[in-house]
Order: sequence, then C-alpha cells, then structure tokens
Amino acid sequence: MIRINENFTKLKASYLFSDIAKRVAAFQQANPERSIIRLGIGDVTEPLPPVCVEALHAGADELSRRASFKGYGPEQGYAFLREAIAQHDFQARGCKIEPDEIFVSDGSKCDCGNIQEIFSADIRLAIPDPVYPVYVDTNVMAGRTGANVDGRYAGITYLESNAANGYVPAVPAVATDLIYLCFPNNPTGAVATKAQLAAWVDYAKRHQAIILFDAAYEAYIRNPEIPHSIYEIEGARDVAIEFRSFSKTAGFTGTRCAYIVIPKTLVAYDAQGRPTPIHALWNRRHTTKFNGVSYPVQKAAAAIYSDAGKPQIRAMTDYYLGNAKLIREAVAKLGLPCVGGDNSPYIWVNVGRDSWEFFDLLLTKAGVVCTPGAGFGKCGEGHVRISSFNSRENVIAALERIAAALK
Ligand code: PLP
Repeated sequence: MIRINENFTKLKASYLFSDIAKRVAAFQQANPERSIIRLGIGDVTEPLPPVCVEALHAGADELSRRASFKGYGPEQGYAFLREAIAQHDFQARGCKIEPDEIFVSDGSKCDCGNIQEIFSADIRLAIPDPVYPVYVDTNVMAGRTGANVDGRYAGITYLESNAANGYVPAVPAVATDLIYLCFPNNPTGAVATKAQLAAWVDYAKRHQAIILFDAAYEAYIRNPEIPHSIYEIEGARDVAIEFRSFSKTAGFTGTRCAYIVIPKTLVAYDAQGRPTPIHALWNRRHTTKFNGVSYPVQKAAAAIYSDAGKPQIRAMTDYYLGNAKLIREAVAKLGLPCVGGDNSPYIWVNVGRDSWEFFDLLLTKAGVVCTPGAGFGKCGEGHVRISSFNSRENVIAALERIAAALK
C-alpha cells in the first residue's frame, strides 16, 4: 500500500498566502463593487528594468539562430553571470567569493527550501520567529520537528524577534547546528549590524554550526554601516551559506533567477566527525535535481551589473523605498509603533490587537490587504506586515483609506 510522508500532516493546513488569498477572494465575491489594494504578499509591481528587457530579447534572438542556439547550459549557471555576481555583489564589497562558489537557480524559495536536504535528519535547528515560513515548513516536511503545539514545533530553537531586541535576535544559550538568518528581514524589515552578525559567526564557529543567511532584500539597504553580505564579517566563509535573489533586486518575481553562495572552505561533519565540503555535496544535489536557468533569463540577470543596469535597479528599489517612507509616515500618524521600511521594503506595525482581526478590519473597512503577523510565527501576533510593493498611486490611495477606516 502506498503511504504518504506523515510529516506533511504536521504542517498547518495551508501556506499563509493561500489563506490570505482565500479571504480576499471571498470578500471580493461578496463585494464585487469594492476595489482592493494589495499591500500583502511581497510581489513587485513595476516592470522589468529596460536593460533586462533588452537582454531577454537579445537572448531569445540568439536562441532563434542555429549558430548561436543553446540547449542545456551548465547547471550551476553560465560563467558570464557567475563572474558578474562574484565581482559586483561580493569582491566589490571586499568579500572573497569566487565565481565557482556561486550556484545560479530559479529562485530563493527553492534554494532556502532545498538546502536542508544535504544535512542530517537529526540536526538541531535555530529559526527566527517571526519568519519567512519556508524555513520552518521545509524542515517539518523533512521530519526534523515534532508536532505543532500552540504555534510551535517541538525540536526547533525559536529565535524570538521583538521590540525588546530591536527585532534582531541574540545568539541562544543552547547549542544548535543549522541557523537561519534573514536580513533585511522578512517580515520585520529589521537589519543587522556588523557586530550583531559577528556574534552569530562566532556562535557558529564555537558550535561547528552553519548559518543560512538569506539576503533576498539586500538591494534595499541604504545605511552605509549595514553589511550587505554575511561575508563582510571576518571568518564567515567558514560557517555561512548566503542566498540572494533577483526577485526584489530587479523585479524578477515572475522572471525567476536567484543564487546560492557556498564557499569551498565550508564544511559539515559525517557520522565519524570527519569534515566534508558542503560545496561538493550541494554541487552533487544541484546537478542531479536541477537543469539550469534559461539562457535569456541569465542574460537579463547579468544585465543589472552593467553601467546602464546599475542605476536602473537603484531607481526601482528607490521607488519602493519611497512608498515605504510614505507608509511609515502614515502609520506614525495613526500612533502605531513600527519598524522597517528604511532599509527594507516591509513595514512591521505593532497594531496592539489580534493580527487576523486587524487584517479583516483593513480588508472590510479600507479594502486594503496587509499580512497578519501571526502567519509568520507566534511572535508575529499583534503585528501586521505592510509591503511597499505597489504603484505610488495605489500606496497613496491605500494610506488614505486606512486613515479613514481607523479614524
Ligand atoms: N527569501 C525571502 C526572505 C523572501 O521574502 C522571498 C520572497 O518573498 C524569497 C526568499 C523567495 O524569493 P524568490 O522569488 O527568489 O523565490
């Protein structure tokens, strides 16, 4: 008899954003005349930068001619993209990362979800709360947790982010093996200083642990003191994997391109305690289960590093940060404490009440969709995440409607 993976039954019934979509769809069906503005799911709205569009067209043209046609490319990504990434995202910031330490993929969601496969089933996990749900759910699916009791899975050390610690969790008192960190943070928008990240690198070294550093929102950092990469911290090459995505950097949520950095010096240990390079393990996994990102998409991704591309993606992230500033100001006027929005596209608002109740209030009274904090973890309760990913007009209209609804 064919059997299911019982670990899936430990998961909450559906993914947070499917729950939100269902509630929004039900409201829209009951109120077809109401217009709804979505500041919930973190999906970009502005068109691709012109350099990327040109590169996509040029890439498609190359595929249309026999002489320049391409079939399967290297699973790890074309050299032109890996070289551009290493040079512009890392070496330019003083990080010693080489092109062959980069694995190009079709998204950070898959990368963050898949990476846990190469680690033992009985490792100890440290995961922030609130958190991007993928880190937790993929470990639940893999059987690394017990049941969910009162919003918490047995077997995870939760790193609580709250107002008291500025939404940047300190290292735990207990030893763990695999630590997920995300800065600028989704959902809180908080950023970590060099000293805070250095404490994590030191912790990982002491415990022979690995940090998974998700920097999907790196392009939104404006404070020059804030590190963009974990590799800006001394010694991080030996303890950290970094995830980057073109989704929020260049509007690629629908185009799909991302990458993981795995330094060749990074090791984990086998049952006999022998160090084993993670790079080789991931290369084996990646080349077995993945066949590469399409050539025109990799061309489009590489275009953001050109002289013409750099100001275009800066203008795009500046645009969303302009929205974020308006949201922060409007939230402050309402007297609600908030963080984020200055080095991040997300604003994390302390609404001082049940987060789904506040979500419903905004939906029904203002026709505005936010994301209830409870969906990101127990510590998210009492908060909502407002996303700046929308047109300026929609953000202004949404803020006016929210102000009127909460009067
Ligand atoms: N990591 C974080 C923290 C995110 O918020 C997201 C998307 O919202 C992702 C990863 C996934 O990005 P991608 O579009 O590359 O799959």
